[in-house]
Amino acid sequence: MRPFAYERAADAAGAVAAVAQPGTMYLGGGTNLVDLMKLGVETPERLVDVSALPHTGIEELPGGGLRIGAAVRNSDLAAHRAVRERYPLLAASLLSGASGQLRNMATTGGNLLQRTRCSYFQDVSKPCNKRRPGSGCPAREGEHHNLAILGHSEACVATHPSDMAVALAAIGAHVRVTGPDGERSIAIPGLHRLPGDEPQRDTVLEPGELITALELDPLAPALAARSTYRKVRERASFSFAVVSVAAAVEIAGGVVRDCRIALGAVAHGPWRAWRAEDALRGAPATRHSFAAAADAELGQAEPLRDNAFKVPLARNVLVATLAELGGVA
Ligand SMILES: Cc1cc2nc3c(=O)[nH]c(=O)nc-3n(C[C@H](O)[C@H](O)[C@H](O)COP(=O)(O)OP(=O)(O)OC[C@H]3O[C@@H](n4cnc5c(N)ncnc54)[C@H](O)[C@@H]3O)c2cc1C
Ligand code: SF4
Repeated sequence: MRPFAYERAADAAGAVAAVAQPGTMYLGGGTNLVDLMKLGVETPERLVDVSALPHTGIEELPGGGLRIGAAVRNSDLAAHRAVRERYPLLAASLLSGASGQLRNMATTGGNLLQRTRCSYFQDVSKPCNKRRPGSGCPAREGEHHNLAILGHSEACVATHPSDMAVALAAIGAHVRVTGPDGERSIAIPGLHRLPGDEPQRDTVLEPGELITALELDPLAPALAARSTYRKVRERASFSFAVVSVAAAVEIAGGVVRDCRIALGAVAHGPWRAWRAEDALRGAPATRHSFAAAADAELGQAEPLRDNAFKVPLARNVLVATLAELGGVA
């Protein structure tokens, strides 16, 4: 690993000012960034540690949402009573990720901005448009069995690895950021972008912007009561998703009154399943409706040579998840 300077920011303004210097990056828990530095994928000259900033609170928002500081550790977020009771799918998504030790280090801000696990991205001896724009995308013709089936481009077929982001896309949330041009709020879904012809940009964040907090939209108790996060992976623990589903449904009188659905590990960011939701609202809560909703969403999939299996897998996982939430045999 290349030598680098390390400093702790005293406050958000100091962190933003420090990162304005060339070659400087924010450091959260370091569980992704430091690995990428060891691989030579990231080569910062200076790290500004933002994990000790006073962004560690979890507070009530007027209207029923929650404000979560960007430095809150994944373990603490998953264990928080309000999260477990009012956003059980968020707690489940966090607990499905990584390991206990990693979750103790990983921060809310860093989790959202972790980079793709595409093997070419992590191998500096290979071309990769995301790492070196214009160098090509060997994954398209090469190893892509766990890469995107939705929203990919000629330039990049990577997936985003965060489980937490999938639950957030279903719930609805905003990230609060501060940067050289002041503060702003960015919606999730919407923070992560599709690759298009600029796959080097994972998100809509501008250079130097610091995530200070995450604000969860309120989730109606009737939705929270029937919500879950289901993750399919190649081994039982310590493994990234092959496909995941975050879902919440409200059912009354045998009819789906409302729903929230997002898919993970299928696109460049968490994928809100708007088409499936539109198909489900007002439909009878039957396996037939759940299958029709899954088909409405996955009908737009464009699998690659070796990842077509993810289309029926995502369909089946979504149908099974909805059937379980709906108590449908
Ligand atoms: C073996 C292993 C298994 C894993 N399995 C899973 C899994 O199954 N599911 C899953 O979701 N994740 C998994 N992870 C990834 C893990 O969740 C992430 O590494 C972690 O969430 C990143 O958080 P961090 O605070 O350590 O980020 P860091 O590594 O510190 O930073 C990540 C990126 O975010 C930037 N950054 C950090 N904080 C901020 C901020 N406040 N504002 C702006 N930029 C910021 C950094 O500059 C960097 O670019 C795994 C990791 C490992 C090593
Ligand atoms: S899929 Fe994206 S990250 Fe992977 S090699 Fe292609 S450009 Fe790089």
